[in-house]
Amino acid sequence: MKKTFRNRRFKLIDVLLTTIIVFLAMTAIVLIFTKGSSGSHLKSAISQSSDKDAVVVDKSDSKYEGIKIITETSNDPLGKYAIQYPQSKNEEFNNHVSTYIHQAKKNYLQAIRNVEIENNKRKSELNISYETHVDKKGNYSFVLMNNEYLQGQKRLSEIESFHLNSKSGEQLDIQTVFKEDTTTLQKITDRVREKIQHSEKLSEGLILDKMQIRTEPEWKNFENFAISEKFMFFYFESGSLKDVKAGPQIAMIPIGDMNDLLKPEYQVVSASPTSGDEDNQSDTSKKEDSTGEKDLESEADNVNGKEEQESGNEKSPTQAEKTGEKKIALTFDDGPDPKSTIQILETLKKYNAKATFFMLGSRVEYYQDAAKAVKASGHEIGNHSWNHPDLSKMPLAKALEEINRTTDIIQKVTGEKPTVFRPPYGAYTDQLSKQRIPPIVLWNVDTLDWKYRDSTKLLEEVKKSTKDGSTILMHDIHQSTADGLDNVMAYLKSQGYKFVTVSELHK
Ligand code: ZN
Repeated sequence: MKKTFRNRRFKLIDVLLTTIIVFLAMTAIVLIFTKGSSGSHLKSAISQSSDKDAVVVDKSDSKYEGIKIITETSNDPLGKYAIQYPQSKNEEFNNHVSTYIHQAKKNYLQAIRNVEIENNKRKSELNISYETHVDKKGNYSFVLMNNEYLQGQKRLSEIESFHLNSKSGEQLDIQTVFKEDTTTLQKITDRVREKIQHSEKLSEGLILDKMQIRTEPEWKNFENFAISEKFMFFYFESGSLKDVKAGPQIAMIPIGDMNDLLKPEYQVVSASPTSGDEDNQSDTSKKEDSTGEKDLESEADNVNGKEEQESGNEKSPTQAEKTGEKKIALTFDDGPDPKSTIQILETLKKYNAKATFFMLGSRVEYYQDAAKAVKASGHEIGNHSWNHPDLSKMPLAKALEEINRTTDIIQKVTGEKPTVFRPPYGAYTDQLSKQRIPPIVLWNVDTLDWKYRDSTKLLEEVKKSTKDGSTILMHDIHQSTADGLDNVMAYLKSQGYKFVTVSELHK
């Protein structure tokens, strides 16, 4: 409530204020009561720890006009979440998005309540992030990625897209961008299927019969989409829970190839870009770099487009640099990612630093170019399992398969076997460690970048605990980590650290 009343009509305002305060107080009492009673027979994780773990909501400007980024985080150790979503000036759009978010949170908290508290040792987490695509008319596609982990296991991986007409502020959906013609839907289906069939990775991920079902000519099958300047993206759920870690599958089709089906205002006039390889990262669109949001298309830009920046930072060395022999190993887990990993490579190059990337086999298979770029930049590549399961909780043979399959794909894609292995969550059995697997390397500085998703916080965490010989854990799949790395590197360099791979550090 802003204090904008400057006249003397205090009486009326007093009455109003009193009424509101009394009402709020009563609401609070009712809420406390309800919470207390509902948790009485079932010691709910949420009500138990809600006092010390307040939910944090933050609203900040995005780089996109008229769009704010809402961030909600909860550090309840038994029901963590980190949620990010866009907010526009359109109430209907905002309601649409918040309904989705509300439901996702509700489902997640419900799932946690259903788990017996004794078993609730492993981390649960709800993670919703989003990426923004802008088409040539400035219309927005927001692609929300909803990942839910229950006791350390991925339970859900889902995509939901929202769309805004930048001029009218109206919401768009799949049917509003395509021509109203009885044959349109079938043609979309045909083109998406063709794309999938010609892409080894996509057809594997959407194993043929399922692919057929998920791409039946019904609008609802194509409602999760995005339009950028050059591509149309269609998102498909990855299917079985077992494959959930791999995440949704994306079919990327050059807009030029959809021109005849799109309403004129969404068509592109220029020649269509070449469809590129299966990962579709050969596109060299000059899309601006985005902060906080992923952009699948700009990988090539990031690799080739930027000027060498080394000279700018090679100023006179500090005292520590002249004398210091301090070494640290930066490690990046859970990638590769076509956007953030590549950005990280650029930053590392700027500081002439070598690091170690612990990759997931499933992502190496999907983002081969990104994995190759890491190798080409001279960094060490480590094995981080295929799908990020808790290896200590599975039969030895299965755990070994997770590792070996990943070793194979890394060798196939980068030409070399991974030299080190880091088990997901740092969890492994004695038995597993005695097998013929690459040496296990954990970490001793955890930046918690996956939790904060805040580029400024990254430096704080590093400052807190880094010392000579530290192995620092970060995740190259988060844009916030990629964005915050430069400051971290500048700081560490000023402290005289030399950046080495984990193998070199442990030599
Ligand atoms: Zn990991």
